[in-house]
Amino acid sequence: MRDAILVLNAGSSTIKLALYAVPQQGDAKLLCKGLLDAHSAAPHLIIHDTSGAVLFDHRPDQAGHHELIAALLDWTDEFLQGGRLIATGHRIVHGGRRFVSPVRIDADVLQALDALTPLAPLHQPRGLAPIRAIGALRPQLAQVACFDTAFHSDLAPPVSRFAIPRRFEAEGLRRYGFHGLSYQFIAGQLARQSPPLTGKRSVVAHLGNGASLCAMRNGRSIDTTMGLTALDGLVMGTRCGNLDPGVVLTLQRLHRFGPDEVERLLYYESGLLGVSEISADVRTLLASDDPRAKEAIDLFVYRAGAGVAAMAHAMAGLDVLVFTAGIGENSAEIRARIVAELGWLGVRIDDQANAAGRRRISTEASAVTVLVLKTDEEAVIVEGCRKLFG
Ligand code: ADP
Repeated sequence: MRDAILVLNAGSSTIKLALYAVPQQGDAKLLCKGLLDAHSAAPHLIIHDTSGAVLFDHRPDQAGHHELIAALLDWTDEFLQGGRLIATGHRIVHGGRRFVSPVRIDADVLQALDALTPLAPLHQPRGLAPIRAIGALRPQLAQVACFDTAFHSDLAPPVSRFAIPRRFEAEGLRRYGFHGLSYQFIAGQLARQSPPLTGKRSVVAHLGNGASLCAMRNGRSIDTTMGLTALDGLVMGTRCGNLDPGVVLTLQRLHRFGPDEVERLLYYESGLLGVSEISADVRTLLASDDPRAKEAIDLFVYRAGAGVAAMAHAMAGLDVLVFTAGIGENSAEIRARIVAELGWLGVRIDDQANAAGRRRISTEASAVTVLVLKTDEEAVIVEGCRKLFG
């Protein structure tokens, strides 16, 4: 009989899932991956094995989140053939000051995580929804939360501080940083594959729908572009990235916008989508002849370059640049354009290696080693669960 852990990684719209066999000794073994989408017009749950072959394709006419989670648990039981699901692990975007390592979820923890929703209105409710559904369906099943903020939990002033009256810091208004599960995975990859690189001054560019940078050295976060919320920093699919706070005041005064309208504008209607008025997806924008698409990409690239330079400042230099996540792993064009912005730092890539998406894309002469590494947040979550259960 084999033990297994089910990992749910809730993003802003869909839930990525992964099921792992967890032996008493040795590495967890990926059994299958999948996607659960309860919010599109055609809700579905699709699971495939490690070679990509579809194992389960469930497309009910009408199904909410709860029904799809129930179908997932039932399918998992059947798939494990008498094996035991010992826990579910969840990606939770915001852990605040309290949660800096994986934690077993109980009613108290759930309430504390719920209270952090105003700091991550787009993500926190999506992360907590499957926990609630599983809690109702399988109250005895252990559930574990792993946090995107945890990797940055050592950040201290001045990096963690906002220049606002300091009494607000005591209320938790400080820079936390996000995408920590992804950064932890990349830190692990550097340590495993290229031990000499871990001590180097590295910037990891997690460029997906959500996007941020992390200045990293010896597997630790030195600085990052996101702050109190996942709005700050780089231009994202639909989020604005860094913004003069005076823009918010002006919107409130000129358009009488309240907090909900500002929130919708900055989280869902801005970024690549807002500037292009076409799409939040880099693929669509790169394929478009519309000048607004080009302008949106230009802004994304310019800000990413400026952000890398700011992260290099945090470490007084730059030795390694890592591209990861949907855009970072797949778009040679965006990588080339960001690197071109950083030419003054001596960063040079080999066009062929970049086009082929090789692991190392920098030239021998480059002052900075440039890598393309695939991230795996689910692998970090399953390890977090295992640590908790000893
Ligand atoms: P999330 O933040 O939702 O986890 P991902 O890391 O999966 O996002 O990245 C999704 C984004 O990656 C898409 O919106 C798209 O813009 C981008 N992307 C994926 N594949 C490509 C590609 N081949 N070329 C350019 N962009 C891509």
